[in-house]
Amino acid sequence: MMKEAEKEAMRIGVNFRVRELKKEIDELVDKEYRMWFQRSKALWAANGDKNSKFFHCRATQRKRKNSILKIHKADGEWSLDMEQVTEALITYFKELVFKSKFFLDCSILEASNSYSGSYAWHSILKGWDILLKGARWRVGSEESISVWLDAWLPSLEHPRIQSYIVEGFKDIKVKDLIDPETRNWDDNLIQGLFNNQEVNLIKSIPLCPTPIADTLTWPFNALGSYTVKSGCKFLAKDELHNQSPTHSNQNNDLWKLIWGLEVLNKIKNFVWRSSKDAIPVRKNLKKRKILNDDKCKQCGQDEESVLHAIWECSKLSPIWDAIPEFACHQSRSFADIKDLLLYVSNAGSKVDLLAVIMWNIWYHRNQLRLNKDNPISQVIQTSQQCLLEYQKENRVQRTQMDTPAPTRVAWHPLPDGCVKINFNGPTFKDINKAGLGIIIRDGFGQVLTSLSKQIQLPYSLDG
Ligand SMILES: [Zn+2]
Repeated sequence: MMKEAEKEAMRIGVNFRVRELKKEIDELVDKEYRMWFQRSKALWAANGDKNSKFFHCRATQRKRKNSILKIHKADGEWSLDMEQVTEALITYFKELVFKSKFFLDCSILEASNSYSGSYAWHSILKGWDILLKGARWRVGSEESISVWLDAWLPSLEHPRIQSYIVEGFKDIKVKDLIDPETRNWDDNLIQGLFNNQEVNLIKSIPLCPTPIADTLTWPFNALGSYTVKSGCKFLAKDELHNQSPTHSNQNNDLWKLIWGLEVLNKIKNFVWRSSKDAIPVRKNLKKRKILNDDKCKQCGQDEESVLHAIWECSKLSPIWDAIPEFACHQSRSFADIKDLLLYVSNAGSKVDLLAVIMWNIWYHRNQLRLNKDNPISQVIQTSQQCLLEYQKENRVQRTQMDTPAPTRVAWHPLPDGCVKINFNGPTFKDINKAGLGIIIRDGFGQVLTSLSKQIQLPYSLDG
């Protein structure tokens, strides 16, 4: 039952049933242990002290019971050879350890121990989710891998078959894709069922000539076993993969939209934080265990999420419904603030006004929280005025900035009969000297005469 539950969990990515079964097993193991413990005590109390023969008989029996003289091997045969027994035992425990890497057995032991064990158990359950995402089936010859549901392709991005299920082939197993005689992939069948990329991936899976078991492996380290380090690397890669181009493009658009708004920086900042779900609405405070109740105090109906506090709350209808540009308030529902902003922007409506009203609504909400009087009817007027003033001020500044700087005076030929005299007199205090330079040019720029002379720095300049 446990094996089936684990397989199902691998498929659907939910391990609730597995957890339930583990808890049950855990309790049974505990009960059994206590039962045997009590029984041994009772027997000892009843018979142990009375006669030593009983004690010795029990000990011999127990030794006989605990000694392993033969073993039932994986291939179904019994073995009496001690070497084979040892080998079978080692293999068995290796598999057990492998399983423990998938948090099956060791976690139960830890869970039953103590509080710290229980903490470890919870941590392991978190690790389990990563395993469900990352573990892959290594194709053997059993019937355990489902073609359409399990992760068995040697690809990190698409470990499951993406092609549509072909009618009549819904329940086939990976084993059915292998020619039983040649132990090679059945080319015709594969090409008929999957797309070219998948066909190539499948053909790249080596098949063992002798039957072996289908095994779950962790493909992110060389040994195929899970380690915390490889788990972390896998998560990082997975996150990067999930940041699809569409998603990051949307973020870029949003970033540009918000920081390009013609509103005060504090408003841009607020809108950005709202779009990132990073303002202290009751839902977020409950998540951080600061509040127990996340219900909106204004309408008393829904949980106070960011979108609710700023847009959806029924108490805000007099604001949003009064502005024709935001008719979408009644006609559409949005997933979050980001969704709302992008929609309003794409519809060509006034995102600036939206942003200022959002800020004023939040301000209004906070004032009410502090029991300060702040009539909601003033929100629109205050916002429009605030926006107008800012944009007016901004335009004045921009006009000033846009006024071209005075252009440099160009040289023009001098009127006839005039000359131009340039002179300079630098001082060099370190050598106590000064220079004199004079140049006289005519109307065409031709030098008529020039003078350059080094003189002793006049004393008057020393002071
Ligand atoms: Zn509300």
